[in-house]
Amino acid sequence: MSEQQAQAASPTAPLLEVRDLKKYFPVKKGLFSRHVADVKALDGVSFDLHAQETLGVVGESGCGKTTLGRTILRLIEPTAGTARFEGRDIFDLDRKSLRALRSEVQIIFQDPYSSLNPRQTIGNIIGDALELHGLVTGDARFDRAKELLERVGLQGSYINRYPHEFSGGQRQRIGIARAIALKPKFIVCDEAVSALDVSVQAQVLNLLEDLQQELELSYMFIAHDLAVVRHIADRVAVMYLGRIVELSDCDDLFEQPLHPYTQALLSAIPQPDPTRERLRIILEGDVPNPMSPPQGCHFHTRCPLAMERCRTEPPELVELRPGHWSSCHLYDGIEQPAEAIRIADHDPASTPDTVRTDPDGNVTTEETVAPFEDDILDDDLEMFDGSSEGDPLPVEIPSILGDQPGLILGPFGEIVDPEDSYLDLSEAPALETITGLRPHDMTLPRIAPAGSEPDDEETETRSADEFDGDDTADLPALGNKSQGNSPRLDDTDPLDTVPVAENEEQSSAKDHKSED
Ligand code: SF4
Repeated sequence: MSEQQAQAASPTAPLLEVRDLKKYFPVKKGLFSRHVADVKALDGVSFDLHAQETLGVVGESGCGKTTLGRTILRLIEPTAGTARFEGRDIFDLDRKSLRALRSEVQIIFQDPYSSLNPRQTIGNIIGDALELHGLVTGDARFDRAKELLERVGLQGSYINRYPHEFSGGQRQRIGIARAIALKPKFIVCDEAVSALDVSVQAQVLNLLEDLQQELELSYMFIAHDLAVVRHIADRVAVMYLGRIVELSDCDDLFEQPLHPYTQALLSAIPQPDPTRERLRIILEGDVPNPMSPPQGCHFHTRCPLAMERCRTEPPELVELRPGHWSSCHLYDGIEQPAEAIRIADHDPASTPDTVRTDPDGNVTTEETVAPFEDDILDDDLEMFDGSSEGDPLPVEIPSILGDQPGLILGPFGEIVDPEDSYLDLSEAPALETITGLRPHDMTLPRIAPAGSEPDDEETETRSADEFDGDDTADLPALGNKSQGNSPRLDDTDPLDTVPVAENEEQSSAKDHKSED
């Protein structure tokens, strides 16, 4: 047994070790997809997860919780860092090894409606994974699917039904049955109960706890409902702008939160007892833009306890009490803080002017404004709503034309953003890249022989052999940006090119339709 395997087999070795994990989503802009910034969804995340443990991950929307879960499972490729599962580096596995790992690490998705294939029966949804991993074959997979359905509280006879025939709670149970089908050791529960009614939430939480004991599972439980996390988690990691700011045993965190952000989060939990006095901490300002997070402590633009050094020095995540980690300069030099430094005890006059907010509640520090914020099209940011993965989609030309009438035609007939344009034609993109046409496909104006009258009507197609490499010489004069005479695309209404008769036909057809 290798040293690595020995370490993995040791009862004290963590099941999962994540170190300095980073995931930056590139933001690209313009027709040529210039890389203008990165959204730092994960910015150096480290933690351990032990066997049969439940780690809750909490934080505001956009803090990187879901990205963390998906990156660990390698549904998203990381930018940097390592994640070791039983000693194996997940990010270093080849395709075959990664498939084998998939039977040990699984995920339960947030949305029970979109996470099941509507064209497949439940028997196939659960059974296909079993067959793919070679656990059962043929009709035996349906028998196993029936067992799994019954284990999660549904009738085995449902295997021939389709997802649309079930309620949200039943679908989530099917999702759980699918996740446990391969007998995994670790499951990422990505907001697994957020989309369910409260009563159904309780049933699903109980089911998850029962399965954990029965199958010796470990969970990473991502949620924004702190009450749910307190119920199910052994330890809790609090995330803010792509970093873990506090990591602790669940009870210790809820009783004695050390980090100011955690104190503010916990103060938002509704108290069932109206007679109990509580301090509600309202953070001012918005979460800073993850494309341009503040220097130093990411939280300093909203922290009522911020000091000057918080603006420049990022605090380390250190173990302040046994098993209780926090990243905050307030505790520098204090070995084991018995009491948390509380926002409630804070004198507002001691907050430096540099982190004050204006009367409207807007943070006035310059770091909260991304350098390209106004510049970046909405399309570039769509992927960051947590609903999609991968690199931003390229911006489509029609949307640019609608939103940016200032775009011009370049010398090759391509659409050019004035900021992206090239003055030196040798830097211009290949014509084929822009138009999809090869040079010999192009229909060009006839070149009249010397001494003859030019013929305006006729055109000829030149072969590739005849093509002299100069795309520009024979093209109609579209203007050149460097000469300042490029026609603007928005000057021409596309409908103007439709013959009048056709326009009339269409409008009359529309009229008839509206009358109907
Ligand atoms: S490091 Fe400074 S800004 Fe950050 S949480 Fe602590 S006191 Fe607040």
